[in-house]
This record gives sequence, structure tokens and C-alpha cells, in this order.
Amino acid sequence: MVGYENENYRIDTADQRYVLKLYPFDAGLMALTMAETETLLFINQDHREIFPMPVPSITGAYVEEIEFEGTSKIMRMLSFVDGEFVGDVVRDEKLFKSLGSFLGNLDKSLMSMVNHSIKARQTVWDNQYLLLNKKFLPDIVDAHDRYLVAYFIQQYGIHVIPRSGDLRKSIIHNDANEWNVLCTDGQVSGIIDFGDLVESYLINELAIAIAYAAMDQPDPLYCATTIVDAYHAVLPLQEREADVLYYLVAARLCISVSNTAHNKKLYPENDYISISEQPAWRLLRKWLTINPIDAQNSFRKAIGAEPLSIKPMSALLEERQVFISPAISLSYASPIHMSGAAFQYMYDAEGNTFLDAYNNIPHVGHSHPRVVEAGQRQMAILNTNTRYVYDLLSEYAGRLLQKFPDPLSKVFFVNSGSAASDLAIRMAKTYTGHQGVMVMEHGYHGHTQTDIDISDYKFNHAQGQGQKDYVLKVPIPVTYRGKFKADDPQAGINYAKEAIALLQKSEVPVAAFISEPIVGCGGQVPLAPGYLKQLYPAIRQQGGVCISDEVQVGFGRLGNVFWGFEAQEVIPDIVVIGKPMGNGHPMGAVITTDAIAESFDNGVEFFSSFGGNPVSCAIGLAVLDVIEEELLQQHAAEVGTYYKNQLTELSHRFPSIGDVRGSGLFLGVELIVPETMAPDTDLAQKIKNELRNNYILMGTDGPFDNVLKSKPPLCFTKDNVDQVINEINNILITHAN
Ligand code: PMP
Repeated sequence: MVGYENENYRIDTADQRYVLKLYPFDAGLMALTMAETETLLFINQDHREIFPMPVPSITGAYVEEIEFEGTSKIMRMLSFVDGEFVGDVVRDEKLFKSLGSFLGNLDKSLMSMVNHSIKARQTVWDNQYLLLNKKFLPDIVDAHDRYLVAYFIQQYGIHVIPRSGDLRKSIIHNDANEWNVLCTDGQVSGIIDFGDLVESYLINELAIAIAYAAMDQPDPLYCATTIVDAYHAVLPLQEREADVLYYLVAARLCISVSNTAHNKKLYPENDYISISEQPAWRLLRKWLTINPIDAQNSFRKAIGAEPLSIKPMSALLEERQVFISPAISLSYASPIHMSGAAFQYMYDAEGNTFLDAYNNIPHVGHSHPRVVEAGQRQMAILNTNTRYVYDLLSEYAGRLLQKFPDPLSKVFFVNSGSAASDLAIRMAKTYTGHQGVMVMEHGYHGHTQTDIDISDYKFNHAQGQGQKDYVLKVPIPVTYRGKFKADDPQAGINYAKEAIALLQKSEVPVAAFISEPIVGCGGQVPLAPGYLKQLYPAIRQQGGVCISDEVQVGFGRLGNVFWGFEAQEVIPDIVVIGKPMGNGHPMGAVITTDAIAESFDNGVEFFSSFGGNPVSCAIGLAVLDVIEEELLQQHAAEVGTYYKNQLTELSHRFPSIGDVRGSGLFLGVELIVPETMAPDTDLAQKIKNELRNNYILMGTDGPFDNVLKSKPPLCFTKDNVDQVINEINNILITHAN
């Protein structure tokens, strides 16, 4: 059989079986093969027949250089170890337990072994040299898969490297996979292939065994913990070892998939290479859904250590109240203490994993390794302001502006959506000389005083500051339960005509009209088709400019378009962006025309201390790169359409779902009392809270707070959608009964 690089021949005599091994000659390999022989002779002192036993040739040598078929080879022979491969049997608890204790016993003997060739070995298949595998990342064809691996490599850097000096080292087998471990009667009875022996962290032995044993197991953490428990009973583990195991299991899976990707490129015809590829990917994806704290606590429990201590929520809330005003609200009656997040998952401090179906700020995924690395790297090199020249400013501005149609050709960088909206209004007023602002019913544009004045959602609140006399509010062009309905093709135009009539009646000349293309705080209400196309010319005609607030919907979230205004077939004069721009790093910007930008250059300098700084530019560039590499706009279209269809399907079964609307991964579900069509705020809250109890994050909004809002990170998958739909379905079934 041909493995990665050697040839194996089975030799059967009347009463014995042997394996003859031939390797292409290499001096380093010769030394390692001799080291392996020494190790096998050492561990075979106690246990015969569970490990291969080296067999000397007639010259008495265990390892020899020979000439074979015209080339120089290394030759050696080993006894044949009987048993079934773990890969060929059904894996159960008994097997996992026996694997743990078998490896505990093996490692116990290996611990007293010293070998300098093994100690000096540096291989990409050793978890302690995980970082060497970074060079294989470009060989992983699928960008999202590549970044999943990059994520775990980055986590290794954060969680394992700083602790590595405290981890016990020993010679380990280093490859207890399902095709090396043998079993008899459902229990591990032997192990072969000592060709990967390394001196590494002792705990890596377990990490590797778990990485293979847990493949395609329904509960990989349970499987892992069972193995740890049994190993610990034979060879006690230390707390610090249990604490890094989660990351080391992931490390081995990363090594496996990276090497497979690399070797597939080198040897496309060798099937042996991809033997565990798909199961390894499946486990890596599943591993991501395990909160590292949950894993840590499970492993701690298995070794009899205390769980990680966390402050009770009551104490945390008390502390918070000392310094933080209650005006800054918390989600949920029982708030969540977050400790980490990765892609579309969030981890709380208790060990739970939440599916994030709500948060559009981590646009390309929480803790995306490309974005994290861009920020970390630039922060370590240069962070300054736009009064100096640095390449990244023009590079990022250029890349960003490529995403906009003519004549939108200038960008002003700030640090939030609020600052961007505020600046947009100031610019519009400067450019037009007008003071009035026409705003959308239920609109929200930020928290500065100007922003509040133009945000009906805030100024019109029962305790709000009220509508200023320079503000003109137009009715939201909603086609569900609105004046003009979805079945009326003229709905958008009719709403626009009403807005134009208001504009014409206004005593204050309007500097700007500002609206989102889908009104988030209004309850994810898409402007009726044709609305902006009809309205924009009228705004311009009376000397105003048109502003599109793309803070929520921009950067490809809507799937069919990169910016929301494109869906309305208009080009605004000013665009406001924020949230997803920096994937959580505080960034915002105003994009406008040359003419408006020029009029703003009137001697009153514009300066933002942080806007457009090199770190933000590096992060912004990384976000754009990831959107393109992972084809996230197309992904949003595909998964979003599936999501919307599934929700629509639910609405056919449950009349309390009055409307499903939105586009791509920006959706709204309006809950109603079916008999009266009245908004059902209680049901919306019930669903939100029940989803939280089932570890799914989602929000509600709209004037009656009866609209479920889902706008997840764009890496959200169809499986994630199924999970959400399944839970909403269950909640509505219980509600109906
Ligand atoms: N515009 C819209 C449409 C928003 O949703 C928000 C934030 N929710 C803002 C502007 C303000 O952005 P920020 O919170 O970054 O200041």
C-alpha cells in the first residue's frame, strides 16, 4: 500500500506476520527511523504485540540502506500488530474510554524516553509548530474554509502560545488516528505507525486522538471528554493542559486540512491524501459551534479540577450600574454575559453558544481573522491622522469609491454612522444654503443633536424632544397595511407624490432629504418600488440634495445590490455609511460628489482625529477584501432568498405572521393578531425571548415593536437558517395551542 511517501509490504510466514517498509533514502529520515526503532524497542520492553516490534535483518541491523529497483532505499521490518482499524468499527463510549487509557499507558512509557533526533524534529504535523502550516493556507480553495482555519490558527496564537512554556513536553506518538489505532472486541488493543514521533506538548497526544475520534460523532465534546477522562485515570493531566486542549484539537484539524489542500495540489492523483478531509472539515465547523469555555469546563471536570470561576450576573449588573447609566439599555430581561465570538456564533461566559441572527456590524463574521490581523498589524506599525500622508488612505478611499457609481467620487472618513449623518446634513446645508431637512417617518440616523432632530424614531418618542420647525416629515411608503398596498404597482409613485406635495407646501426650503432604502427602525420596511425615483428629482428641483443612509443595509447585505439605493434605481448626492464598514471597528463615512465636496472646502477646515486613520483604512480594506474573496454579496442573496422563502412558508402556516419583507440578509417578520391585523407586540417579544432561551439572537423593532429583525453576519448558512426556522416554528406551535 502506498502512503504519503513509503511502501509497505506484508510478509506472512507459517506462524508470523511482518511488515516490510521501504522509504526513499534520506539521511535525516534514516536518523529518524533509527530513533523510531529505538523508541519501539523501548516501549516494547513491557508490552509485546500491541506496538510493532522491530525485527533485525540477517546483518543484525534494524534499519538498513539498500539498493532496490535501482534506487537507494531505507529498509526495515516490523512485526504485524493484529486488530481491526478504529476507522472500520462503530465508535462508542467503551471504545473512547479504551482509547484514552491506551494512550495514557503509551505516554506513560514514552515519558521516560529521551531521543535527540526526535527532540530536534520540526514538522508541520506537530501541533507546537502549527504556525508553519500558515504557508499552506493559500492552497485551501474555498475562501470561507480558508478563513476558518486562519481563525483557529489566530486563536492558537492568543490562547496557546503565551502558555506554551508551562506545558509538559514528552515524546508522543503524534498520530493516533483511526487508521493507526487498532481494536479488538470494541476496545483499543494496539497502535501502529510511529513515523510521526515528536517531542511536543504531552497534551497534543490527546488533542490528535480526539481530532480523529470525534469526527462525525454526534457530540464531539462528549467523545473528547470521555477520552480525556480515561487518559487522566492512567496518566493524570494538569489543569493548564486541559485549558488549552480545545485549541489544540482545532490545531490538529487545521494541520490536517491545510496539508491535504497542499498535497492535493502537489499530487492530484493520490487518493490517500484526502482520506479524512471531509470529516475533518465537518468537525472543524462543528468545533466552532462549541464555546471554548464549555470545552474547558468539560475537560476540567474530567480531570477533577474546578470549573472556571465567573462573577454572578447580579454582581456584574451591580458593578455596571455604578458607572453606566440605565439610559444605556441591555438586551433581554436576563442579560447575556458575552465572552467571545467567532463568525456567526457568540460565546457567553457560562459556556453557551449563541447563533447570531441579529448583528449586522460584524458583517463578514465576528473575529474574522483577516480583519483582526489587518488591525493588529497596522496598529503595531503606524496609527496617525489625515494631516500626514500615508499610502493606506488613498488606497482605501480608492477601493471604497470603486463601489460607488459616478458622480459619487469623494469620501470623508469619520468614526460612526452618527458622525457621518451629522456631517452629511452639515454638508447639505453648506452646499444648498437651505436649512430645512425632509425626513422619513420612523427614521433613525444617529445620536448627535442634529441626528436626533432628523430622526423621527427619537424626536417623536413619547419622551422625545419633538419635531423641530426646520424638519419636514414624510409618511413611510409601506405597502403592508399602508395607504397604498403591495398589489398596487403605483404605490411607490403615489407615496412619492404625497411627499412632493408636502415639500411644495413647506415654508422652509429643504437642504436635504434623508432616508434609508429599507427603514430599519420602522420595522425593516423597504421603500415602495419607484418611490425614490419619483421623489429625488423633486428634491433637487427645489434646490435640495438627496441623502441615502446605508449604515444598516450597505456593503452587499441586500444580496441583489451592493447599496440599497441601487434597488430604487437612483444615485444619491450623498451617501452615509457605517456599521459594517469596519466589521466592528468604529468607522463611518460620507461619500459625495466633487461639487458638494468642493463647496464644503470653504475655509472652515474639516478634521476628524480618528477618521481615515491607517488602522481603520487597513481594517476597511480587509473588510472589502473578504466580501470579495468569500463572495459574500452572492452568499447573502442565496442564503437570504432561502431564509425569506422559509419564513414566507411559515407565514402560510401561521396567520400571526402578517408580513415577511426585506432583501438578502436584511429581513423583517411582522407579527399580528390575525383576527384584527393589529400589531402583536407580545408575540414578537415572546419569540425574541424564546429564541434567546434556545440560543438564537434576534431583535425586534418598528413603531409597535412587533417586527422581528434578522440581519446576521453574512457568513450565515442555510443550516443556520434551518435552525432559526425550526425554533420559530416550535414557538408558534406552542403559541397557537
Ligand atoms: N443610521 C442608521 C440607519 C442606523 O441604524 C444607525 C445606528 N443604529 C446610525 C445611523 C448611527 O450609527 P452609529 O450607531 O454608528 O453612530
